[in-house]
Amino acid sequence: MQRWLLLLGVVGLVTTVPTSFDQITPRDGESCGYDSCTDAEPGVLNVHLVSHTHDDVGWLKTLDQYYYGSRNTIQKACVECILNSVVKELWLDPKRKFIYVETAFFWKWWVAQPASVKSQVHTLVRQGRLQFVGGAWSMNDEAASHYQSTVDQFTWGLQKLNDTFGDCGRPRVGWQIDPFGHSREFAANLASMGYDGLFLGRIDYQDKARRLRERTMEMLWRGSDDLGKASDIFTGVLYNTYSPPAGFCFDVLCNDEPIIDDVSSPMYNADAKVTTFLEFVLAQSTYYRSNNVLVTMGGDFTFMDASLWFDNLDKLIKHANLKAAKENLKVKLFYSTPTCYLKAVKDANPTLPIKQDDFFPYASDSTAYWTGYYTSRPTTKRMERETNNFLQTFKMLQSLTNLPESNMFILNELKSAMGMMQHHDAITGTEKQHVTHDYERIVTRAVDDAYIIGNQAFNKLLMPEASLVYERCEFNQSQCSVTERSQAFVVTVFNNQVMPKASAKIDLPVTGDGYSVYDETGTNIPCEIQKLSSEYFSMPTRQSNATHNLCFFAKNLPGLGYKNFYVKKVTKEKRDTKKTFEYHSNINDYWKDIRDKIEVDINNAEAKTIAGNSDTNVFEKVPVRDNLNVEVHDYDKDINWDVLKDGDEKNEEEVQGILKEANKKLVEEMARVSKDSKTVFPRMSDDEMRMLSDDPLVVEGPQDIVLENDYIILSINKDSGWTNYSSKTDGTTLSYLPVPGYYIGCEGNNRAPANRSSGAYIFRPNMTSTPVLHTFRDFPVTNVVQSELQEVHIHYDDSVCLTVGLKDDTVYFSTILNIDLGREYVLRFQTDLKTDGAFYTDSNGRQMLKRIRNSRPQWNVTLAEPISGNYYPVVNEIYIEDEDLRVVVNVDRARGGASLEDGWLEIMQHRRLKHDDAFGVGEALNETAGGKGLYSIDTVMLQVVSKTKENLINTAEKSLKFFSEPQLFVAEAPFSLNKFKTMTNVYSFLKTDLPKGVHLLTLEPWKNKILIRFENYLDKELSPDYVSVDLTKVFNTIGIRSIKETTLAANIWFEDYKQWEWNTDEEFSESFNKEYGNEDVSRAKERKKYDDDRLIIKLRAKEIRTFVAEYGVKN
Ligand SMILES: [Zn+2]
Repeated sequence: MQRWLLLLGVVGLVTTVPTSFDQITPRDGESCGYDSCTDAEPGVLNVHLVSHTHDDVGWLKTLDQYYYGSRNTIQKACVECILNSVVKELWLDPKRKFIYVETAFFWKWWVAQPASVKSQVHTLVRQGRLQFVGGAWSMNDEAASHYQSTVDQFTWGLQKLNDTFGDCGRPRVGWQIDPFGHSREFAANLASMGYDGLFLGRIDYQDKARRLRERTMEMLWRGSDDLGKASDIFTGVLYNTYSPPAGFCFDVLCNDEPIIDDVSSPMYNADAKVTTFLEFVLAQSTYYRSNNVLVTMGGDFTFMDASLWFDNLDKLIKHANLKAAKENLKVKLFYSTPTCYLKAVKDANPTLPIKQDDFFPYASDSTAYWTGYYTSRPTTKRMERETNNFLQTFKMLQSLTNLPESNMFILNELKSAMGMMQHHDAITGTEKQHVTHDYERIVTRAVDDAYIIGNQAFNKLLMPEASLVYERCEFNQSQCSVTERSQAFVVTVFNNQVMPKASAKIDLPVTGDGYSVYDETGTNIPCEIQKLSSEYFSMPTRQSNATHNLCFFAKNLPGLGYKNFYVKKVTKEKRDTKKTFEYHSNINDYWKDIRDKIEVDINNAEAKTIAGNSDTNVFEKVPVRDNLNVEVHDYDKDINWDVLKDGDEKNEEEVQGILKEANKKLVEEMARVSKDSKTVFPRMSDDEMRMLSDDPLVVEGPQDIVLENDYIILSINKDSGWTNYSSKTDGTTLSYLPVPGYYIGCEGNNRAPANRSSGAYIFRPNMTSTPVLHTFRDFPVTNVVQSELQEVHIHYDDSVCLTVGLKDDTVYFSTILNIDLGREYVLRFQTDLKTDGAFYTDSNGRQMLKRIRNSRPQWNVTLAEPISGNYYPVVNEIYIEDEDLRVVVNVDRARGGASLEDGWLEIMQHRRLKHDDAFGVGEALNETAGGKGLYSIDTVMLQVVSKTKENLINTAEKSLKFFSEPQLFVAEAPFSLNKFKTMTNVYSFLKTDLPKGVHLLTLEPWKNKILIRFENYLDKELSPDYVSVDLTKVFNTIGIRSIKETTLAANIWFEDYKQWEWNTDEEFSESFNKEYGNEDVSRAKERKKYDDDRLIIKLRAKEIRTFVAEYGVKN
């Protein structure tokens, strides 16, 4: 940290007092950043030639294959070669410039360089000849990525650049030239990180045509209505995506003619080449407002032999400028960078159009809506989310329990893995299958390695001598060595969010059905043990002995803390006899069975008496404890012998006495019944019947299946599936129908738009066949669980098993999907809400954006694909609403979502397709394992909310909690329940509860300090002023002494950053969501600022604030 401070200190001073002769501070005559730019000339067209390479952090090849140039048969690409070659060529001529983007690759290269090369690179950076743009670990996707991970991966990449190059290494512009659509939240994030501009490659083809026509390719984009001006960022759409003009690709990968300027050669072409090039840039200039154009000279993995490019660009510049001078063409070509182009545009001081929505969905032609990748590879998307949760937890535990610094190596490995996963061919699922496997390998290893942090931290907290070994489980496919093999184990449920009172539904794979669960005090708590759904046993990837699912609720989890549970296998045999008694639908049958059983026993006893044991009373011969009878067993089932054995012995004796007494009474009762076989019992209620049953089974009878807990009653009609939701707390009701179904993906040869296939990028359902929707009626309900766990399992066919259940005041829908090839599965909710085509989807899991079916905010769209063209990314939340009610669906991983009819909500869950969509992957998206389609198990959460302010605040909190659910850590318990009771089984790192609205976004070690980000997750309607946090009173184990604020990615002191001002041709509205589809909305007003009170910080709506803090460890 001291070094970091020093760097920034030096940089801060550099313009006035150049002091040390280090590698970072520019020497006399050197300049970097904006100061190193070639000045644009007024009155001429300034052509900024930007030499660049676009290096995917995995796509057709793995990260390492790309880096080392391995498997060039798949794709000729070698990043190491690119960087080697570029540095050599830049060194030859100070006029040449180059930009680099992906820090994942740069860093891999940098650490392997000898001091001499490092010194050269330092010089190139100090002189602005090598500039970084973007600069995050990867060029992140913007649809499926979550803002927490985006912020993390920028922080990680920029930290490397800052440490190595200081201010000269700081990227000034965002460079998102390949992602398939652009999010509003990301624009806001970039602005908050102190970027001055953002360049985009891909926008919708209709939008681009309009922007060219209207000269609105460059604009001021407001990233957030809550943050207002602070989230404004200059945004430019590149003219030619990121390619060079046709005929000007001077790369080993291209076949364009080089520039030949030897006039004596028969192949001389310099003049013709220059003429063509000038025509191109003149045409381009007509679409832009300033006298500058940016021409991208490069492409995917270009510059492996940089001399080809630089030699030709040298000639192009020389001859074009000569020609311009000779013919007075008023054109000037020069080496430039996006940073220098931005400065030139700024200096020209144009008036910009504004934008307040986002760039989704992206279509590249009338049938190519890139909305499939929102869902492609759902299991990878889920893995990414879980990994983020691990990363956050381990960063927090490392900071809060003061673990050895040597752990930073493994924590950094995890940061790198998550940075890689944000790449626009990673989390998107648009890579080749073998690359997916490599991503999963890297991520799995990183989490496995980082588990040591969890082990150290929990053991430190549990008790001084605790030595639990937490092992990682694959809960996603109900597989866990610890819970399957152990006689007793500890479940540590960690909540990495500061919000208290979190609860979690815990599902543990176990063998057999005899388990008891004890809470943190050692008290036996209710649990449910269900046979695992048959789908699990057909999963080829599953290697597990588990036969059952042990389920219980972990309630009232503390904020930023954990609770432990002790689970013990019940060893006695009682459960084995259980199957002899089946559930009866009629009480008379039930008692008849008992009579028959007793009859047999009595007859046996009588037979024995007759045989000579005459002193024995027949009734005493009938069931006694040793002669096990299931009813007797059921009688003592609730009195858990295992608890007693761990408890005090006196108590055990006492209970055994009670039990004996109970046995005796039951035996007497059974004998009485057996004597009066004509007895007819009154009809019992269904509930009473269920209580007599050992196994929860189908309950025949009423038309509605009712699930109920303290908050909700769900009444599911067994004929139609329509469900009546009713809130017990405020009486809110909603009638809805969940409909699983699928689209058939288009198959075609992709030679023309009409023949476009659905693929990894593109969602294109076959419109000649209507989507196949499973109707509820056809498929039987197989299991109703009536206990604390309120669940119903609905098997629709072999491919879909839907579980509907209640957790607190929300309803969850878990789907096990094993889908056939060619299908794209969705889960749709139909309600009769009047929604006028409107629905809302989140932007990277943060702000919500209004969508209107068949419409775009800024232009009149023509939709040839009415289904896929209405799909939007959903990272955490999608909702519809009417005046009173909001219906929210939260997703457990990124997805595509839509509202195709009023009152409907639909999310896409899984896709398996027969064809590639011809955007480069070259493979059909067809994930299999063991010769079968890959299973995907997902959960969505439904919230039905009457729109009071209080409810909406709670909903925002619940959505955030759902994103980062409490995590399970399990370890074998080589000790008794008694010992467990002596451990610290509930712990919170928080000193006090934080107010609603406060979210701890980041807590991580920052050299010898810590990095903290707090945010206010509420919008300005819900949080009109601010929420405050007293940093001195937040944490138990560490005390914060002082803080210094940085911009969002922690590479600039906040006080050193000044946002650029731009002229716009209109004012922003107060709220895009209010304005879209409505007439008049007032213009935006800047919100009041509030000063912090020393260490009491104030967070306005949706504000994220980042601090580097000095702290002390408390004992
Ligand atoms: Zn790319």
